[in-house]
Amino acid sequence: MNSRIQFSDFNLSKEVGKAIEDMGFEEPSPIQALAIPLIQAGRDVTAQAQTGTGKTAAFGIPVIEKIDPTRRSVQAIVLCPTRELCIQIAEEFSSLLAHMPRILVLPVYGGQPIERQLRALQTGVHIVIGTPGRVMDHLNRRTLKLDDVATVVLDEADQMLDMGFRDDIEIILKKVPQSRQTLLFSATLPQPIIEISKRFQNKPEFVRVQYAELTVPQISQSYIEVKDREKLDVLCRLIDLEDPQLAIIFCNTKRRAEELSGKVRARGYRADELHGDMKQSQRDRVMGGFRKGSIDILIATDVAARGIDVDDVDIVINYDVPQDVEYYVHRIGRTGRAGKSGKAITFVAPRDFTKLREIMHYAKVQIPRIPVPSESDVAATRTKVMIDRVHEIIAAGGLEQYIRIIEAETEGDLQTIEIAAALLKIQMEVGNEPAAEKRPEVDFADTGAEPGMVRFFLGVGRQHKVAPKDIVGAIAGETGIPGKAIGAIRILDAYSFVEVPKEHANDVYTIMKERTIRNQPTGIEPASAGKRSY
Ligand code: ADP
Ligand code: MG
Repeated sequence: MNSRIQFSDFNLSKEVGKAIEDMGFEEPSPIQALAIPLIQAGRDVTAQAQTGTGKTAAFGIPVIEKIDPTRRSVQAIVLCPTRELCIQIAEEFSSLLAHMPRILVLPVYGGQPIERQLRALQTGVHIVIGTPGRVMDHLNRRTLKLDDVATVVLDEADQMLDMGFRDDIEIILKKVPQSRQTLLFSATLPQPIIEISKRFQNKPEFVRVQYAELTVPQISQSYIEVKDREKLDVLCRLIDLEDPQLAIIFCNTKRRAEELSGKVRARGYRADELHGDMKQSQRDRVMGGFRKGSIDILIATDVAARGIDVDDVDIVINYDVPQDVEYYVHRIGRTGRAGKSGKAITFVAPRDFTKLREIMHYAKVQIPRIPVPSESDVAATRTKVMIDRVHEIIAAGGLEQYIRIIEAETEGDLQTIEIAAALLKIQMEVGNEPAAEKRPEVDFADTGAEPGMVRFFLGVGRQHKVAPKDIVGAIAGETGIPGKAIGAIRILDAYSFVEVPKEHANDVYTIMKERTIRNQPTGIEPASAGKRSY
């Protein structure tokens, strides 16, 4: 862990350092770790990494650090293919510049009135982020001067070429002083980009980060929101419901894998664990059992799972949200192999929402929430299994002796359907808990709120760009309680607190559980009184 590169290794100004902290970045992404030092050293860099890997900050951070705010001239220009990207990049730059208000950034793209851009350009901006077409417009009108540009970035270079911007890019590059630094960022590096690099870069360094194959279409992914202490029950229900031939359950630590394995076995499932500290012979025994089918459930840690090679895993359950995005990808890749379909379900406790969002972001997948399977879901599946079995038995024949017993017992009084129903009832009662839904009782008694109010925890905060108005808007809009009735709101980095009147607490809780705030699951939970530390 400690050997990983940190932002503090880059010698950043304290303003940029602070901004990165505000943005909630804990450590550089792999492409940032590779590219930033090279860019800082003044090298031309061609960097290849998938979407969502943090390329913007990879060039943004060193580009910003090079700007001299006392000079009123454009010193860096970023070219990108679309208006949306211009805006996104400009926003990321603005966040990075939060503590350097004197450095000005201007996005220029088609569709926006050119006059507004002209005025901004006249007042003197330091960084221009533009589409090649609009930048060409400004060059032709002589409203944009590039003679003081020290850095050019071609972002999403592959897409720009696909969109036919090649000539514009070449013209623009020729207008920038030779002494410039040229940076090229792209998700792919086809031949035309290599050619641009050869023509316009000076001894470029190539850096590249390859992620595991992230999109696996034949795996259906979902998550279940579940508190830690309810995980075991939910797991068992899920296994009853899914009835997998082979399942792998992932835990984050060896301790948890061992414990869970014992508990699951105690409930009558054929399970065994696999973790990194086991001897090869033990591992072979467990894997042998799994392959032969004498174990249906394998409880594993990430390290242990690396060597697993089985094709027929129907379901992967992440009992814990993985620590690392790549782990998630590796874990779910254990199912849906050899062209078969697979399922991956992740258990998400309220504190795990940030991690879940990160996984969705980097793995570029939407992982939908599914409800906790209820006892009646499980019962329904069992009934279906039973009825299927009944059909099989009838088809196989040989029921004469049973028919005689029933006839003798009932003396022809009862309807066949009633007999069948009674038998089904008996069968379903075997080993089944009472069918009543056990909704966990929610306790709003002491949440540390003002009198008459209930305080809720929300798993969204400043780092998700959530402001008080988003919280008020979401709660008022979704539950219909007046915005004025909503009490104290406190927004922290990764989470927030909000108080609502007691009489609305239940509605707010049940409704907001299913809703989002700024496109993020709310992760709403009653707050605990003891934690009111502010
Ligand atoms: P790309 O250009 O590679 O598609 P972006 O630069 O748009 O990716 O970054 C994707 C997201 O990741 C953005 O929301 C960005 O703020 C965030 N991000 C970038 N670097 C980091 C980091 N080091 N830690 C956490 N999040 C990051
Ligand atoms: Mg990008």
